[in-house]
This record gives sequence, C-alpha cells and structure tokens, in this order.
Amino acid sequence: MKGECPVCAAEIELGKDTVAGELVECPDCGTELEVIEIDPLTFTEAPQEEEDWGE
Ligand SMILES: [Zn+2]
Repeated sequence: MKGECPVCAAEIELGKDTVAGELVECPDCGTELEVIEIDPLTFTEAPQEEEDWGE
C-alpha cells in the first residue's frame, strides 16, 4: 500500500503488515514519519525526541 509524505509529497510504499503508530523514514527527504491511518495510508511527522531530558 502507498501513502504520501506530508513533507515532500513523495510516494511511500509500505508492506501490508504495517500498523498505525509505526514509524517509518521517508526515503526521499529522510523525515521520520508516523503512520496515523492505514486506510487510506496517512502519515504525520514524528515528534522529535529530545535526548537532553532525564538524568
Ligand atoms: Zn519526504
């Protein structure tokens, strides 16, 4: 199944076993994307994790 990168509009193809919440990387712009919906396949930009927090 295929979806569109919300950042660069590239077509992204994923396997049938993809589930909502899965993180993928756009092969075109390298942005980390989260699958928010399977049908139709929809992505959002994954939140950037701050590594500075914690100990
Ligand atoms: Zn992209």
